[in-house]
This record gives sequence, structure tokens and C-alpha cells, in this order.
Amino acid sequence: MNILVLNCGSSTVKFQIIQSDPERLENGSERRLASGLLERIGSQALITFKAEGQTPHKSTAPLKDHRDAIDQILRWIVSPEAKIDSIRALSDLDAVGHRVVHGGEKFQKSVLIDKKVVAGIEDCIELAPLHNPANLKGIRACQDLLGEGVPQVAVFDTAFHSTLPETAYLYGLPYHLYLRHRIRRYGFHGTSHRYIAFKYGQVMGLEPKDVNIVSLHLGNGCSACAIKNGRSIDTSMGFTPLEGLIMGTRSGDVDPSIVDFLHSKEGLSIVEIDTMLNKQSGLLGVSGLTSDMRELEQEETHNQDRRARLAIDLFCRRVQKYVGAYLAIMNGADSVVFTGGIGQNSDVIRQRVCAGMDWLGLKLDEHKNRTLPRGEGGEISADDSKLKIMVLPTDEELMIAQDTVRCVAGARCG
Ligand code: AMP
Repeated sequence: MNILVLNCGSSTVKFQIIQSDPERLENGSERRLASGLLERIGSQALITFKAEGQTPHKSTAPLKDHRDAIDQILRWIVSPEAKIDSIRALSDLDAVGHRVVHGGEKFQKSVLIDKKVVAGIEDCIELAPLHNPANLKGIRACQDLLGEGVPQVAVFDTAFHSTLPETAYLYGLPYHLYLRHRIRRYGFHGTSHRYIAFKYGQVMGLEPKDVNIVSLHLGNGCSACAIKNGRSIDTSMGFTPLEGLIMGTRSGDVDPSIVDFLHSKEGLSIVEIDTMLNKQSGLLGVSGLTSDMRELEQEETHNQDRRARLAIDLFCRRVQKYVGAYLAIMNGADSVVFTGGIGQNSDVIRQRVCAGMDWLGLKLDEHKNRTLPRGEGGEISADDSKLKIMVLPTDEELMIAQDTVRCVAGARCG
């Protein structure tokens, strides 16, 4: 089956076309036929298309909305320039899998999209006002451009965390607020953490029920997840993706009283403070330089920039605190797994996160860590480390494609 995997953001559309054999799911037999990114939708968009085995093709075009962007993708896929053997016409696309950010309490696994599902995703807009509308635009554009005959599947970022126990998802707020407004921890990056649990099991030859790990997704957005018996039992992002670890531009955990204090001291509105916490904080806010970890590492090394170092130190300390907290509640874990752009690529951050944690059984092998090829998976713990330390590149698109195949085949969706 040829699956179009779509990830629609507010002004971006990312896609992959994954060819998957329904008989051999989970065997790593998938082929990536093409991928691409369309940015700055709503104005002169930047477009990158790449077909398997070819160099990326970059261009610009005025794209007024997501429908225009997806139309552009579909035209390119079947064009002679793309040279995708298996796709000559749009009828060669068998299904579409959409990343949907928020499924609330309603969606606990991936689902085949129908009118009821669209209404359910609309109901979750109040929980994810920036993300779900863009996901819905993608779904509607595909219905429009490909017709109702092409099945579409929604894969939710929150779904993997639907197994959180009450003690993990409730806040210490008046209980009626949960009943009235569903204010609770939902958690995000679920598809990535689920992939890490799946991949770890595959690499170690374990049944899903035997996977006990702390998964660290460290990228522009960052989250930690305690995975016990293959299920998420706690995670650092909360009601929104703002909570938890320090991220590129998000603060992560802060004392909520700071909001009121800032309102009175700086005269900022609630909306302005929310923007500050989401867009001007984290690595960017502390360093005053950049939200990009690679650039911060360079500033620290080459210019001895104090605030770049401070931002990295804060980042690593927060990760350490979550690793410690999750090991404390898990009553036994086998491994800490790094993923995401930072986790997969930065030996420096991995080393600083693991530093001083050997007393609790986490001991890095500095040589293995340093020499692990960038972007590749592998074990980086010392031979006498009680817990394994692993690096596994995440692959949310693969999970979305696999779920799409399963849902379309009428099997349990994931
Ligand atoms: P993601 O959101 O998963 O794409 O991750 C983006 C983050 O990964 C950015 O902060 C990048 O600077 C960081 N990153 C990517 N490659 C490296 C690297 N080699 N060293 C340090 N950080 C990196």
C-alpha cells in the first residue's frame, strides 16, 4: 500500500509517502518513496520535495492555504519530475495518515476518519487551538482533492498517554475543574514515545509488555515518558505541550504564580505572558541567543558564552530531574533512551544528562557515546552500567503509516 503521511502545522505541511506491505508490517520492509516540507503557507511558500534516491528539489510558490499546499504535493507526486515509479496517478495512493495533535479523552488510539471523528477532533480544538484546526484543514483538503473513496486515518499525539493512571494525569487542583473542563495531563509526542517503545522491544527482542524504559524525546519540543510494561505511565508534557522539560522556546515547568506576578510587574496581558512562555523562553530565553542547541553548543565551545552554557546546564539538569523522578515511580526500568534532534545527535548533551547518575545505575561509556555515528541508533552505556543507555532515532511517520495500514485493513489500529 502507498500511504501519504501528512503532518499539518499552522503554516507548514510535512509529508512522506511510505510504501508498506500489510503482510509484513513491523518487519522494517517499508520504503520511503518521497518526502517534503512546505513552509510559510499563506504567503510565498518555501517548498522542498525529495524523491527516493534523488537530490532535494527546492522552489517557491504562492500558496494561500493548506488545500493549495496539499494540491501542490499531489501534483508533484504524479509529475514526471518526481519520477516515483510506484505512483503514476493519484489512484495509486491507497490511504492518507494524518498526525493529529490532540485527541482529548475521546481518542485512545488511531481511527479511520468519518464525520463523527471529524466532529470529535473539532471538539478538541479548545484544548489545542493552534494545532487541531491545521490538522482538520489537512483532512478536509484530502477529502476534497482525493475524494471520499481514499480512506484517511487520524493518529493522535495524545493517544499513547491514554494509559496514564489517575495519579499521573490529575493535577492538584479542585477536582470539579477536571470534571467540568477536563483539565488534566494529556501528554504529547505520544507517537514518538510509542515508536521508541516499539523499536526498543524490537532491538532487544522483547515482547511489548516487557518494555520498561524512560524515553527522552529531546528536540525543539522536549518530553520525557515513563514506559512501564510497554505503556505510558507518566509523561512530562501536560495539559498543553508547555509543561515539563526546558525546550527550544518553551519554559517547561515554572511556578504558576509567576504569571500573576508578571502581569502586575510588567503590565503584560495573559495572552502576552502565554506567548512569552511558549515562544520567548527555554533555551532562547535563557541564552538570549538562539533556541537551536547546535548553535548553543558552538557558542559555548568557541566563544565561551556564559549564558549559552547556562541554558545548556539548565536544560540538562531538568532532564536529569525527570529521569530521576521516573525511575523513582517505575519500580524498575531497564533503559534510558535518547531520541529527537538533540537526543539523537548530541553526544555532548547525552554526556551531560548522564553525568553524576552512575550511583543510581546509569553509567555512560564516553567512547561509545562520542563515536556513535550521528543520527544512528545504538547502545552507549558502560558494560557495568545497571541501566542501559540507548540512542534510537525516532520515526513518527512510520508509526502513522503502520497505523493507517492497520486501520484500513480493519485491524486494531494501534
Ligand atoms: P527536532 O525538533 O527533533 O528536529 O530537533 C531540533 C533540535 O535538534 C535543534 O535544537 C537542533 O539544534 C538540535 N540538533 C540537531 N543536530 C544536532 C547536533 N548535531 N548537535 C546538537 N544539537 C543538534
